[in-house]
Amino acid sequence: MAKRGLLIVISGPSGVGKGTVRELLMGDRELDLVYSVSYTTRAMRPGEKDGVDYHFVDETTFRKMVAEGGFLEHTNFVSHNYGTPKKEVFAALEEGHNVILEIEVNGAHQIMKKCKGENLLTIFILPPDRETLLERLVGRDTEDPEVIKARLEKASRELAMAKDYDYQIVNDDLGKAVEAIRSLIRARLG
Ligand code: ADP
Ligand code: 5GP
Repeated sequence: MAKRGLLIVISGPSGVGKGTVRELLMGDRELDLVYSVSYTTRAMRPGEKDGVDYHFVDETTFRKMVAEGGFLEHTNFVSHNYGTPKKEVFAALEEGHNVILEIEVNGAHQIMKKCKGENLLTIFILPPDRETLLERLVGRDTEDPEVIKARLEKASRELAMAKDYDYQIVNDDLGKAVEAIRSLIRARLG
């Protein structure tokens, strides 16, 4: 039987670069990473693909999944629901793959509680400063001004929770941040 994989949780405020870092990490075949595609009720952004970036579902479908216990964790983030599918994550871990969850702080806390003592690595990505975070969020050009405002307000509360994670990594130079996270994962994999 394969050795159970490592569950890796990556959080950080909206626009800090989680998705960018994750995609670069996924390119390293040696890490044997599987990205857990979440379910969400938010609208698809231009360029996103259903089943790749998220499983885009309506409220009714999401609530049904919650009722059936289909999520490992789930939460509401700035007016939309997000959840990690339990079955897929457990199946990949059982097969020995390492699974990356890119989720916000509420969901991460649920995982920390549920998976205490298990093979879990939690990493919080920090921005160099608030101005840079705003620049990245605005520069990405995917949200309306009022959504950007709501996400920035949320960011302050999220940053206060960075200390609850195993490691905090500043995403200033992208290459260095990816390398730092890659080293943390490698060290845990032994
Ligand atoms: P998140 O997934 O955390 O919301 P993204 O990965 O979408 O953030 O990144 C937000 C924006 O910031 C994107 O336009 C991305 O290209 C850019 N970005 C990410 N990391 C860096 C970095 N280290 N330096 C400059 N820009 C970055
Ligand atoms: P976005 O709308 O920018 O894709 O994601 C908004 C926030 O929700 C980000 O912090 C992202 O990491 C988080 N997120 C994405 N999927 C999940 C999930 O399944 N569960 C939780 N708790 N957060 C998620």
